[in-house]
Amino acid sequence: MTEIRIDLYSDTQTRPTPAMRKAMSEADVGDEQRGEDPTVNKLTRTVAKLLGKDDAVFLPSGTMCNQIAILVHCRPGDEVIADRSAHIINSEAGGPATFAGVMVRPLDGKRGVYTAGQMEAAVRGVKRNAPRSTLVVAEQTANSGGGTVWPLETLREVATTAKRHGLLMHMDGARLMNAVIASGVAAKNFAEPFDSLWIDLSKGLGCPVGAVLAGGREFIAEAWTWKQRMGGAMRQAGVIAAAGVHALEHHVDRMAEDHENARAFAEAIANLPGIAVEEGVDSNMVFFNVEGTGLPAAEIHNRLLERGIRIGAYDRYRMRAVTHLDVNREAVVAAAEAVREVARGAAG
Ligand SMILES: *Cc1c(COP(=O)(O)O)cnc(C)c1O
Repeated sequence: MTEIRIDLYSDTQTRPTPAMRKAMSEADVGDEQRGEDPTVNKLTRTVAKLLGKDDAVFLPSGTMCNQIAILVHCRPGDEVIADRSAHIINSEAGGPATFAGVMVRPLDGKRGVYTAGQMEAAVRGVKRNAPRSTLVVAEQTANSGGGTVWPLETLREVATTAKRHGLLMHMDGARLMNAVIASGVAAKNFAEPFDSLWIDLSKGLGCPVGAVLAGGREFIAEAWTWKQRMGGAMRQAGVIAAAGVHALEHHVDRMAEDHENARAFAEAIANLPGIAVEEGVDSNMVFFNVEGTGLPAAEIHNRLLERGIRIGAYDRYRMRAVTHLDVNREAVVAAAEAVREVARGAAG
């Protein structure tokens, strides 16, 4: 296989920087399971403060954050409401059904963002034969929707409506910090209407591993029980938490560059034959449809790979390019040039 020179497959493809590795190697550590790891404690305190919540817990992945939040908030047979494109529906291997035993009711939002009205219409009335609606999930940014940034106003309307019906709110904040940088809205303002939320350290923040789940004191105490049950409790986890502390200090503001690079890439491929860029590049993702080239996304993916460029084939004709700290402007320009060659080749 040709070497991958430019990897736009996902913002999970970043490597820890030398400065991050140094912070990791120098981390103070202790037994995380016993609450004795000073670096983990610093990370969880930092994230709880950033998000304006009582407390937080360090977990190995965002998927585990979502699953634990659903477990804490719901009972078996309950129903969770989420957009059709949600990660919890499509990319967690049926976790909500497996662990919490809940159903997920999908909404037809626009680019991953639904309205309070759509959400309210999905709330079940209290009936013996209906599942109980318990939890509403919003993804910030909405990944499969297009890296869409939920407007604060929409989140507030959804939350107000949810609370009126006695439902709880959970944010899948895998890319919340991208939304913060893209919108200028503070993380704690986005977080305020939510009973629980988390941020991923291993996406745009550039860490090798980890995510932090935040919420009220009782929620986090219960989340800890599930973390323990699921085997998510760790030992000298300060080594990896140090990457998170470093990233929150050094890798947040720079996300503006990723967003500019995504827009530059979108503009560079916008008028190519057979390529249709999806409306709206809010953050670090560019989705485009390649049906007009006559080739499926998997084939375009392979032809780009031959040129050392990796861009994910999302479904039959849909592709996703994601910018991150390991790709600069020069790299996205080169990647767009490769897309141009491949699109021309397909048309010819
Ligand atoms: C990546 C992602 C997750 C899962 O996070 P992991 O750390 O990969 O488990 C959840 N939700 C969204 C929107 C994601 O993009």
